[in-house]
Amino acid sequence: MALLAKRPNGTQDVVPNEVYKWQTVESVVRDTAQQFGFREIRIPTFEETGLFVRSVGDTTDVVQKEMYTVSSSGDKTFTLRPEGTAGTIRAVIENGILNDGLPQKVYYTLSCFRHEKAQKGRLREFHQFGCELLGAASPSADADVIALADSVLKRLGLRNIVLNINSIGCPECRAKYREALKAYFEPHRSELCATCQDRLDKNPMRLLDCKSEEDQAIAKDAPLITDYLCEDCAAHFETVKKQLGIMGIDFTVNPKIVRGLDYYTRTVFEFISNDIGAQGTVCGGGRYDGLVETLGGKPTPALGFAMGLERILLTMEAQGCEFMEEKTCDLYIAAMGEAAAEKTVEIVTRMRDEGFFVEYDLVGRGLKAQMKYADKIKAKYVIVLGDSELESGSAKLKNMATGEQTDISLGEELLDDFGAQYYELMMSTDDDFRSFVEAFADNGDDK
Ligand SMILES: [Zn+2]
Ligand SMILES: [Zn+2]
Repeated sequence: MALLAKRPNGTQDVVPNEVYKWQTVESVVRDTAQQFGFREIRIPTFEETGLFVRSVGDTTDVVQKEMYTVSSSGDKTFTLRPEGTAGTIRAVIENGILNDGLPQKVYYTLSCFRHEKAQKGRLREFHQFGCELLGAASPSADADVIALADSVLKRLGLRNIVLNINSIGCPECRAKYREALKAYFEPHRSELCATCQDRLDKNPMRLLDCKSEEDQAIAKDAPLITDYLCEDCAAHFETVKKQLGIMGIDFTVNPKIVRGLDYYTRTVFEFISNDIGAQGTVCGGGRYDGLVETLGGKPTPALGFAMGLERILLTMEAQGCEFMEEKTCDLYIAAMGEAAAEKTVEIVTRMRDEGFFVEYDLVGRGLKAQMKYADKIKAKYVIVLGDSELESGSAKLKNMATGEQTDISLGEELLDDFGAQYYELMMSTDDDFRSFVEAFADNGDDK
């Protein structure tokens, strides 16, 4: 049999055996964002192309080379989102969220699409966790957003992650810096790649993140933005650093991170891992006080970050981080004969209503094959039901890990009796279950 179609290059299937890794990351991200006061926002997968041209910037590789764009009837074109910020800000403005009191804090986990050369850790459809904080100009907001990213990475168990921060100033400091960059690169114009020759006139800061090695060598001694900060921008940056110190977050000032998009202002930052080779940035973000206005909203200071979830997962795997355990079947009921099969359906229904994870035979297997299947799906307990069990109203409950068997009534007491056994098993084998129960008991004591 031949497969009719294959997975497109640069995309990934997440199969049930692997999905617990994603669920681990998603649950840490959700819980942490919530603790910092961020609420989830969900936006469309595609937007009008103009949104990305305006916000991501028409001199970027993303807009120039990597967008998936389709045109529909009429002359409108739509683009699969290459990142999450533009659509999120668009939605925040369009839904009047900024009128609900400031700051507003939103987060998202979503897929993004870029037509790039596919490689390990860089896919054409990839996933991001991102957050945006809108309506706060103070340096505390910068530190708080960085602290959120830092907490997520630490709670995932990641190690050897380095935080680099920089300030790229305001439009005023940047105008002077651009002139200095132009003056520096002009004598090298003919040695630069074609894209950068164009950028030299339009946006010389973009030259600093060109991927060409020749261009990187030329850029090595270029002037640094930190030497061009105005008084206000310098003071803002000092306060961000001070607050990070109070929070106990280690960082390195790296004047080479620039994010040369027009709407970026002041603080920019990157979390970098050295455990996944050259593709080391696991999180990047910064302040973009000009973006809301660029997209047609009232001038509103804002900042945020995005984390590449594929890279986070690669790093977690490389570092042997722990993932949430997959839930396994609590009870498998193996039945022999028609009457037992009917009784099984009745019991399974009752137990599922109580919240237990219960399975039974759906393919018509014999008893031996049912037992083998129960073992394969790692069922914690098995009950075997046949005519004699139906007659006596009682069956054997087998603990699959120890082989231990106990009698269990099939009547009204079944749920309570199974519940008691299950509770004991979980208390002795599952740390999460035990700490949850203990925390609950502690709460009760306080009242
Ligand atoms: Zn400034
Ligand atoms: Zn270049």
